[in-house]
Amino acid sequence: MTLHWPLDNSYARLPPRFYSRLAPTPVAAPSLIALNAPLARDLGLDPAALAAPEGVAVLAGNALPEGAEPLAQVYAGHQFGGWSPRLGDGRAILLGEVVARDGRRFDIQLKGAGPTPYSRMGDGRAWLGPVLREYLVSEAMHALGVPTTRALAAVATGETVWREGPRPGAVLTRVASSHIRVGTFQYFAAAGDTEALALLAEHARARHFPAAEGPLGLLAAAVEAQARLVARWMALGFVHGVMNTDNAHVGGETIDYGPCAFIDAYHPDKVFSSIDSYGRYAYAKQPQIALWNMAQLASALLPVMGEDRAAAIAAATEAVHRFAPAYRAAWEDAFRAKLGLATAEPGDAALAQDLLDRMAAAGADFTRTFRGLASGRAREEFRDPGAFDAWAEAWAARLGREGASPAAAAARLRAANPALIPRNHRIEAAIAAAVTGDLAPFRRLAAALARPFDDDPSFDDLRAPPAPHEEVRRTFCGT
Ligand code: AMP
Ligand code: MG
Repeated sequence: MTLHWPLDNSYARLPPRFYSRLAPTPVAAPSLIALNAPLARDLGLDPAALAAPEGVAVLAGNALPEGAEPLAQVYAGHQFGGWSPRLGDGRAILLGEVVARDGRRFDIQLKGAGPTPYSRMGDGRAWLGPVLREYLVSEAMHALGVPTTRALAAVATGETVWREGPRPGAVLTRVASSHIRVGTFQYFAAAGDTEALALLAEHARARHFPAAEGPLGLLAAAVEAQARLVARWMALGFVHGVMNTDNAHVGGETIDYGPCAFIDAYHPDKVFSSIDSYGRYAYAKQPQIALWNMAQLASALLPVMGEDRAAAIAAATEAVHRFAPAYRAAWEDAFRAKLGLATAEPGDAALAQDLLDRMAAAGADFTRTFRGLASGRAREEFRDPGAFDAWAEAWAARLGREGASPAAAAARLRAANPALIPRNHRIEAAIAAAVTGDLAPFRRLAAALARPFDDDPSFDDLRAPPAPHEEVRRTFCGT
């Protein structure tokens, strides 16, 4: 029986130089680890059919749904600032695009689906650890209200993948509004392929920003979306870890979860990625890196921004310069909400920054401090609670000027500050258990993360910060 999916593959209709057509490489013994039934239903897919052997075969890459046109996309990118003219999907295969019940179009991609012409030295596979990490973190980001790719399923392959040693292989089914990256534009720009660049710009514009006009409209909208996205990351203490241009989504979704992490004890210089030796992608550097990535998008788009090169450069520069004010406004909105404020005053950003500075000095837990503002327990996160109390006086005065009832302010605080984030040590414990065949911790964590703003007492342990011996200081790339 072949599965029927509502597929309409617009990327596959672009010229052949945009991708390589190939099917996933079958795996030995697929078994379902996780299926995101609510997401499946939103996409118009039947969860029961996906969980049946025919469905699992598709999710493993052993069979294709009717209407699939599998392909690996080509792209380039700046990796840690160094230029790579040809990267591409080295271990991911796009099955096709589903048009969901609400009319939105989503890529369905298998990550870890076997080698492609872009695999270079890689094996085209993924192991269970990064697959579960991406599943948990991307779904948590969605529940936290952050634009992101989603996880539809995780499947064990029954095969061994070699990393630092033998690891169980897995495939993630990723759902995204597209997989078009800044690096996709860079690939065609570097090749001098203006025709492809124009087609790509129009495809991305129509797909992500239909109200925008032309390549310049696309650039302006992408800059705005990226600024808002990174402000959301900052408001959650999220560190992406590999903000290379090939991992920068043109529509403003968080994509390519590798060595990402949420901060426990706050410090602006926090870096987790084992390969980020110089802290290029540290927490506080993320806005300037996103801006740099947008400048690369602008340069790539220049050849299709009109005959008058000087005018194109001026317009592109202006669009990129919109990043800073857009980011600033989004950051201030986010942190005003985190302080429970319903109105705006000029001193609000300084008030928020003052709290962050005190948190950094105290090593206060990011999530618990902000969540604790609603319950009055934030001061417990400070080694010297007096440092918090001094700030809280100014905060109380500011709230007082708003005249809001404490109950209304507390409700706003609880809506803006999650009780639960996917803490590193919890993710790693879930992965360690899954490797031994025990999926219970993964399932429990996934269930809890679906409702991050709830104070469910049965998940108290998941909200606790890591004990010193549990603290995870290094995370590894998703390879
Ligand atoms: P990432 O840093 O995970 O975004 O990956 C950067 C590039 O390396 C992309 O082109 C990936 O497709 C490729 N890549 C990562 N892991 C593998 C792998 N195991 N096999 C082949 N290519 C890979
Ligand atoms: Mg990538």
